[in-house]
Amino acid sequence: MPIVDHPLQDATTFATLNRQLEERSADEIVQWATQEYRGQIALTCSFGGPSGMVLLDLALRHDRDIPVLVLDTSLLFPETDALVIAIEQHYGISVQRVRPALTLAQQANLHGAELYNHNPDLCCKIRKVEPLNQALKPFGAWMTALRRDQNPTRANTPIASWNERQQLVKICPLAQWTERQTWSYLHANGVPYNSLLDTGYTSLGCTPCTQRPLSADDARSGRWVGFAKTECGLHL
Ligand code: SF4
Repeated sequence: MPIVDHPLQDATTFATLNRQLEERSADEIVQWATQEYRGQIALTCSFGGPSGMVLLDLALRHDRDIPVLVLDTSLLFPETDALVIAIEQHYGISVQRVRPALTLAQQANLHGAELYNHNPDLCCKIRKVEPLNQALKPFGAWMTALRRDQNPTRANTPIASWNERQQLVKICPLAQWTERQTWSYLHANGVPYNSLLDTGYTSLGCTPCTQRPLSADDARSGRWVGFAKTECGLHL
């Protein structure tokens, strides 16, 4: 594994690093990340899609103390809330629930009821993006389970990159993985996953903005149906 100089913000350094990481397995990348940034790295997991559960399982194999963060928008499916609790029991960890500054009632007072129906970008900003920005402030690195095959907007996801917004290193160990690999890992390792994925959902977010996919070729086609929006903004 490469030894990198800090701060790791230089594009040339990242290009060199990524050339090396592209040759490594996801497990090796997680091992490198958890060693390189031990005590400074956090993992975010939506507890919706399957790849987050793979990454969580891999990360805990290498670092039992890695902070695991979930964005609790107060609009998650009950099945997602149940999975968070199941994971805490399965691994003996405590998941950090990152909550927005505004309750749903406060948000409705300020911006109108059901903001997700008329301005989902603002709703995501309040309930996801800003809370994540705050939650990641103490950390120097952030590990997340983006895959290149999830969406055309994610097709060029680098394994490691400097994230200007959060001022930290963002690491996507599963960038090269496919949906099939993800499910093979979950089944082979008995990793708990969201029960809604057995009922036709392929990508899960908040209840008002999630349907079963409209297209079998696009796992995220059930998200924000009726809007041009395809991302909540966490990864833009
Ligand atoms: Fe709001 Fe929908 Fe974004 Fe959730 S996914 S924060 S409900 S707009």
